[in-house]
Amino acid sequence: MDPEEYGFGTLLAHFGEDEKLKGAVTPPIFQNSLFLFEHTEELLSSMSNMQGEPYHYSRISNPTLDIVENKLARLEGTESAKVFGSGMAALTTALISNVSQGSHMVVVDTAYGPVRTVLATWLKKFGVSMTLVDGRDPSEVIDAIRPETSVVYLESPSSILMRLQDIDAITAETRRRGIATVIDNTYNTPLHFQPAKHGVDLVCHSATKYLGGHSDITAGVICGSSKDIHRITRHEVNVLGNILHPFQAWLLQRGLRTLKVRLKAHEATANTLAAFVESRQEVEVVNHISLASFQQKELYSRLFSGSGGLFSFEPKVQDKAKIMEFCDSLKLFGRGVSWGGFESLVIPIHLTTIDDPTPRYVIRLYCGLEEPEDLVRDVEKAMRILS
Ligand SMILES: *Cc1c(COP(=O)(O)O)cnc(C)c1O
Repeated sequence: MDPEEYGFGTLLAHFGEDEKLKGAVTPPIFQNSLFLFEHTEELLSSMSNMQGEPYHYSRISNPTLDIVENKLARLEGTESAKVFGSGMAALTTALISNVSQGSHMVVVDTAYGPVRTVLATWLKKFGVSMTLVDGRDPSEVIDAIRPETSVVYLESPSSILMRLQDIDAITAETRRRGIATVIDNTYNTPLHFQPAKHGVDLVCHSATKYLGGHSDITAGVICGSSKDIHRITRHEVNVLGNILHPFQAWLLQRGLRTLKVRLKAHEATANTLAAFVESRQEVEVVNHISLASFQQKELYSRLFSGSGGLFSFEPKVQDKAKIMEFCDSLKLFGRGVSWGGFESLVIPIHLTTIDDPTPRYVIRLYCGLEEPEDLVRDVEKAMRILS
């Protein structure tokens, strides 16, 4: 199929699946660790190439993984992609592949917590330093760049507080200086934002969330140029072995087919619920990128074609017991980490930011595929606890 001719939903359903093995409508799972060759010469050549076909070992490549990697690359508008055993595996690999001793990174301070932990504790042991930035002002990001900076790390919207970065303004500078830009695009999915088209080098996802979409796998992906992905496969994946396994890749592929319809449903429900939450007097502020009141509304409209099912709000009451009771009393929102699946979730987060060091509670809500009215009623009942 010529991908230029078709839209997002059609690519999700069919791209890269022209070949039907024995007519099977879904691709089989290549559940094997190694591949055999007729001639030893071919085996040795495949081992030194470390690419897709001819395959020699599933730690390097496998046809089941190839299908989902090609589809994800096409959706993100990159030449290539590599899937991993989790989002963290993808993100840490993308970072590690761009630093050496003495490197410096510029990192958004509201990025996903464990990523900041990798940088602040683990990479620090190897002499890699970082500067945390608020990120909402691109000149602040650019000013933090030093001669030894090798990576600018972005997440837009950022975890929990949903702050945006002006990707075009930042990549104009990183491109000019030859600095790698890495982004966590988990929130948007390629349906709502394709960072590579705005100059980002490595676009990463926790595919555990929307891409998988059913809370039944952990997975991650890096999308980038063929050159970068091949380099990462050879130098990092080959030695770290942090790969996705064929059955999980097959489930990811199955989940992807419905990404568009699911995401549109999550988005509509979250827009309804966020508007309701914002209308309540118990609430100080709602952090949701598509609300008219959103601080960076102009940037949202310029860069994104939609929002998603995840948002947070800060209650006026900052009493821990009341916040726990609010979360406990919800019937349809499960108390749990993660998001992006079929089921609604709630979690309270106690946080500080570099622009506001006062610790405060925000409550993060994830809207699943339940009926929006049911979710609104559930939250409405619990709101009294926050008065
Ligand atoms: C969940 C998440 C990750 C980590 O992904 P895992 O698959 O859990 O390793 C990274 N970034 C964001 C924004 C996430 O929500």
